[in-house]
Amino acid sequence: MHEWSLACQLVREAEAEAERRNAVKVFGVTVSIGQLTGIVPELLTRAYDMARMGTLLEDAALEVEIESVKGRCAECGRESFIQGFGLMCPECGALGLEVLSGDDILLTKMDLEVREKPFRGRGGVHV
Ligand SMILES: [Zn+2]
Repeated sequence: MHEWSLACQLVREAEAEAERRNAVKVFGVTVSIGQLTGIVPELLTRAYDMARMGTLLEDAALEVEIESVKGRCAECGRESFIQGFGLMCPECGALGLEVLSGDDILLTKMDLEVREKPFRGRGGVHV
């Protein structure tokens, strides 16, 4: 189960990032998944729902965005979005496009509740 280990990793990384930013709570996370990864969004969401239990992300909804596969043709240099898994250039028909995007998984957005830093020192801060 690829999705399960990915969900655990996602929760770990999002939590670490939230802690770096002094967040006390995470409301939502958005992850971008390249089509070439073969990740099934429904399975990832289900795994995430289990993985987030007892973490800062417990109440954080997961939003999954699918990133299209973009490739560049070695023959004509044209960049194009690729449908399906045939890496063929729509311009000249050459095979074996170089994949530019669509094969990675990125944490793209987080909604955090950040703890106010305690105010120290004298002097007023006018609000
Ligand atoms: Zn081409």
